[in-house]
Amino acid sequence: MTEKVLAAVRTAPGTTEIREFPMPEIGDDDAVMRVEVAGICGTDVKIYAKPPFPDPVIMGHENIGVVHRAGAGFTERHGVREGDRIFVEHYVGCYRCEWCRAGQYRHCENTDWRTNPDARRYGYTSADNPQHLWGGFAQYMYLPWNAVLHRVPDTVSAELAGIVTPMSNGIEWALVDGGVGYDSTVLIQGPGQQGLSQTVACKQAGASLIIVTGTARDTARLGMAKTLGADHTIDVTSEDPLQRIRQITGGTGVDVVLDCTAGAGGAPVLLGIDALKRRAGTLLIQGEMAAFPDFPVKKITEKAITIKSARGHSFRSCELALNQLASHRFPLEQLTTHTYPLSEVDTAIRAVAGQVDEGVVHVSLLPWKER
Ligand SMILES: [Zn+2]
Ligand SMILES: [Zn+2]
Repeated sequence: MTEKVLAAVRTAPGTTEIREFPMPEIGDDDAVMRVEVAGICGTDVKIYAKPPFPDPVIMGHENIGVVHRAGAGFTERHGVREGDRIFVEHYVGCYRCEWCRAGQYRHCENTDWRTNPDARRYGYTSADNPQHLWGGFAQYMYLPWNAVLHRVPDTVSAELAGIVTPMSNGIEWALVDGGVGYDSTVLIQGPGQQGLSQTVACKQAGASLIIVTGTARDTARLGMAKTLGADHTIDVTSEDPLQRIRQITGGTGVDVVLDCTAGAGGAPVLLGIDALKRRAGTLLIQGEMAAFPDFPVKKITEKAITIKSARGHSFRSCELALNQLASHRFPLEQLTTHTYPLSEVDTAIRAVAGQVDEGVVHVSLLPWKER
């Protein structure tokens, strides 16, 4: 009798069905992971409401689990054995292009569903493809030879490892892209899982001033930002953020601005441009809007601002993030506020969207959790 695997499949906008798939037959070169935790982020909220294509998809792109079955070739290539806890990047690289060779799987054509109809990316790939189990909202996930894995340190629990993706984005965006380091001054907009992870990355790297903004709904999250290292927090709905930032910095402005808001339109970008120091600051943007009417390009030139785009993480940032979690230097367990079983994927995604409970920071799906 074939073993069956339960998975939550997105079948239409905002619609999930639990379906059964056969356990993948593996050979020498591939493996199957038992999913322990699938983290959910703001991107899931967007692609659940408006799927990029109509195929059935097992979502879940921030996946932690244990190697369940692995071929000898897979074990040899990746240096992990059955029973090892791993974090699987959602990018499935080709391992041949310049990006893969540089550990930048995020940029590989093999994983880019926007330009390559046959791309593989966990949480985005059609479940109609061979082996079907291409997402973390399932009991098991299929790992081809070219999956990108990281061994999770023994001192890191599956739940804690569940925030490795926002943490690695924090390292990538703030430190690598933004150049935050010793004595940097930083404005982080948005105190969600991403903004809080940036706070930790900036603090660890030596930033001397970290300001985190939020709204009236973010009281608990802004408190958490303080716990994790923010020097000041600003509720933009009750005070003028630019005025506060000028006051805090003695009129100087900040070196780096990181936009970690979701669905806030152009306001964080405009605030960021004005909050940056007089010359040569760096602005990291999300690029949620297709166009930006009346974009103040003159100010960008006059202030010699560098604009960077938030775009996932490199292999190295994931390794650094796992080291950060293993250090237990910051109480990052506090970020994982909500967990849901497989049958409640819909509620879990709505929780990330802020429709279920105000105290949500990071939401994890635990496919083996009893309700
Ligand atoms: Zn994500
Ligand atoms: Zn590649």
